[in-house]
Amino acid sequence: MRPPELTPLFASAEVLKGVGPRVIALLKKALRLPPGVLLPRVIDMLWHLPTGVIDRRAEPTVAAALPGTIATLKVRVLKHKGPPRGNTKAPYKVATEDETGRLDLVFFRVERSFVERQLPVGEERYVSGRVERYGETLQMAHPDYIVAPDNRGDLPLLEPVYPLTGGLSGKVLLKAERQALERVPPMQEWQDAAWLKQRGWPSFAEALKRLHHPEDAADVSPGSAPLQRLAYDELLANQLALAMVRESFKAQRGRPVHGDGRLRAKIIDALPFALTNSQKTALREIEADISAPRRMLRLLQGDVGSGKTVVALLAMAVAVEAGAQSALMAPTEVLARQHMETIAPLAEKAGIRVGLLTGREKGRVRDDILARLDAGDIDILIGTHALFQADVVFHDLAFAVIDEQHRFGVHQRLALQTKGGGGGANMLVMTATPIPRTLLMTHYGDLEVSKLTEKPAGRKPIVTKQIANGLMEKLIARIKAQLAEGAQVYWVCPLIESSDVSDLAAAEERHAHLTQVLGEGVGLLHGGMNATAKDATMAAFADGNLKVLVATTVIEVGVNVPNANIMVIEHAERFGLAQLHQLRGRVGRGSRESFCMLLYAEPLTRTAQERLAMMEDTEDGFLIAEKDLELRGGGEVLGARQSGEAEFRVAGGAGFSELLSAAHDDARMILSADPHLTTERGEALRRLLYVFECDEAIRLFRAA
Ligand code: ADP
Ligand code: MG
Repeated sequence: MRPPELTPLFASAEVLKGVGPRVIALLKKALRLPPGVLLPRVIDMLWHLPTGVIDRRAEPTVAAALPGTIATLKVRVLKHKGPPRGNTKAPYKVATEDETGRLDLVFFRVERSFVERQLPVGEERYVSGRVERYGETLQMAHPDYIVAPDNRGDLPLLEPVYPLTGGLSGKVLLKAERQALERVPPMQEWQDAAWLKQRGWPSFAEALKRLHHPEDAADVSPGSAPLQRLAYDELLANQLALAMVRESFKAQRGRPVHGDGRLRAKIIDALPFALTNSQKTALREIEADISAPRRMLRLLQGDVGSGKTVVALLAMAVAVEAGAQSALMAPTEVLARQHMETIAPLAEKAGIRVGLLTGREKGRVRDDILARLDAGDIDILIGTHALFQADVVFHDLAFAVIDEQHRFGVHQRLALQTKGGGGGANMLVMTATPIPRTLLMTHYGDLEVSKLTEKPAGRKPIVTKQIANGLMEKLIARIKAQLAEGAQVYWVCPLIESSDVSDLAAAEERHAHLTQVLGEGVGLLHGGMNATAKDATMAAFADGNLKVLVATTVIEVGVNVPNANIMVIEHAERFGLAQLHQLRGRVGRGSRESFCMLLYAEPLTRTAQERLAMMEDTEDGFLIAEKDLELRGGGEVLGARQSGEAEFRVAGGAGFSELLSAAHDDARMILSADPHLTTERGEALRRLLYVFECDEAIRLFRAA
């Protein structure tokens, strides 16, 4: 149970004054909510941090005010001059002055009564906004703030600037943020006093205050003490939670499973290729784990196209040989279906019964699958996270495979490990993002790792080239020639800002353009399509009926169309390295020579230049991952930026990797000295875990 004093932080943001259903809907767009949280809460407001400040501290006299700058002026209202009747275009002006000069306040399309109320003739007011020169007069159009001398305190002298969304006013948000801040309860310090002192970090509450209510512009700048403090809090919570889950995982007895190899032999027989040595080694390692008395938790790392699916199938077959069940979970519906298509024919040859369960299986179909699963009539269940819903009951789950792990946030990761927990199922986690060693240690600790280092035989290198946007038509002409020779092309349009609408619009526009130039056979795939339409489009591309597939990043993971040999990525400069590498991995799977064309818009930042050059230079996923870590910081490499979900609220940006390893060591030290978090600091640390919503870890921990 969450301690009651934290309740105010987890209330809906609607408790804040000025936040009604309309604002909530806007906040939902502007804030990054953690997975599973549908409506913004007070705590989400607090994690919505300003990106800068507007400095209103300059308080010149009218004569000294500099045109073009933001200033706060104390003036006396002289007279109102409304626009002539019937002329709504002319501004409403209010003449004001101080001892040194005149200042006109100018309003367009404003209600007279509003201005009259705000600026009564003869009274003094503070006005704050941008001062401009208009001919001979000094003016301020639509002051940001107008306050009476008595209410001067309402005027934010350093006004934090928040990321907004269309329709959400900065003022409404600021007011809500101020109230959110007031709901932060006093809390016992959970960080080590000496460490705080050494770093010069403020307390948790003070850090939030300095960010949302800055008294110094530096507080809001990247790397500031308050930001570092909160990032460290988050990293420590994360490290503690992972360590606790790991402990509880290790404490569980395993479910040793012994297969006799008969099903695997049949599957291998049915494969049109021989396994690579890496695949064989990985399988041996997995088999040893599954048959050991300790519960298995192993990571299978393999670059895109290294052949993880077959390894997963053969590993799952071990459990089936022993009369138990296996599950394979993919992060998206498209991928789950693709796994099903790959696995079903092979499984059939071996007499293994396979079922599919995603969000789309509903009603009778779903009931039927659940009944067969419960009865043990399904040997391998493939699906999305629908697999882990409460009413999905396995007859005897001995082995679970989780594909493309990096798409799941920490919280989902925790929930999954718990789900497998009851039955003590062995777990294999597969990731296509080769995670650098350092990061692996900090995020998974003592997890065992198998690596697929070889590419399947017959793979050709992918020629990668960066191309300036201006050369796009040339590129399209070359693609046209390639298409005539049987090539197939992925054309990826990037996410544009935060709005999916403009995203889609960009993809649609490109689709129309390519159709015009290349003729029929250009398909469009985007996140807004329903699952059936997506499948149909993917199938048409896989069958070769579509030659070009224009897509938003929904094709990012796992999709396998061996004949596709050209990948075009628009605005490649907006993608991270890992993501570019993932996307590129969609081609180079067949016998044709493959290309990856990175279109970019100038000017390129230094980092973007480095990223694109790196992509041209190497196809080694491990090298790329190291570089990615260096360029972006640990949070984002593992984190959900790629999937659009927030994994870290504060520590997501670059520049926190140093803190990550400190937090890792700190968590270890804390748990070895106080394994049950029962000391005074331990109690405080529990609060930290709740603040960062690692409740699952705490629950597990209690049970252990
Ligand atoms: P990923 O590791 O990215 O999930 P997949 O499992 O989708 O890769 O495999 C990519 C392609 O490589 C598939 O078409 C698969 O059939 C093929 N493949 C897997 N193993 C081998 C192998 N040993 N030799 C040749 N092709 C293979
Ligand atoms: Mg895969």
